[in-house]
Amino acid sequence: MSRIIDAHMHLGEDLIYNSNDSEERILGYMESFGIDGVILQPGLKVNDWRRSCERIRDFAAAHPGRGWGIVSYTPHCTDEEYFDHVSWAINELGFVGIKLHPEAYCCASNAPQARKVYEAARALKVPVMIHTGNGVASALPSLAIPMALEYPDLTFVLAHAGGGMFGSEALVAAQVCPNIYLETSWCPVYVVKSMTEKLGCRRLMLGTDNPDNVGVELAKHRALGLSDEDLSWCLGRTAETVFGLN
Ligand SMILES: [Zn+2]
Repeated sequence: MSRIIDAHMHLGEDLIYNSNDSEERILGYMESFGIDGVILQPGLKVNDWRRSCERIRDFAAAHPGRGWGIVSYTPHCTDEEYFDHVSWAINELGFVGIKLHPEAYCCASNAPQARKVYEAARALKVPVMIHTGNGVASALPSLAIPMALEYPDLTFVLAHAGGGMFGSEALVAAQVCPNIYLETSWCPVYVVKSMTEKLGCRRLMLGTDNPDNVGVELAKHRALGLSDEDLSWCLGRTAETVFGLN
């Protein structure tokens, strides 16, 4: 079996969602559930933007081949400020992607302010992960369709694959746009099943978003009766490929 990669987890304080998971808690769930690697994001709002990223860099350095980073930053700033922060995280800290959170940042994925996210990702040659689900209407999966069509050279990952309500819309977005991938945390199992059938497992990736949710997300994929090959894509190989994990 190839590596199991959790493509969506947060480290440290989040002043919007009031979470604060430590390195020890992350390592504990990786140990308990056999997670080989984790892609970590800082909180959506934090006291110290740079320090929150450096903690992820330190985690990755302490556990080679087991941790990577995605940077997220409010797009409600100048193009220069945005690019300064995300390019520092990608180029200096070795992060592998950029996150846009429409709900936390009050910025729909098709809003004018979101363009700086895509322009930065294109320049830095990394994928963009967009939160979808909670926070509708700004977090509707379909809003990413025109952007994915306009930026065909950019890879988009829809986090939560539409969440509890909009999984079938996320599926349509991925069916319409070959550069859209789906990260399936919080998405109902029957919707994930239809994604494996209609889209294929090479476009799906495991994400958990919360240490308490890890066992649930693993069980969801394992409950579907997938072949070993298909399961290996859902649980790790898609994330490895999309984010270029070493
Ligand atoms: Zn999250």
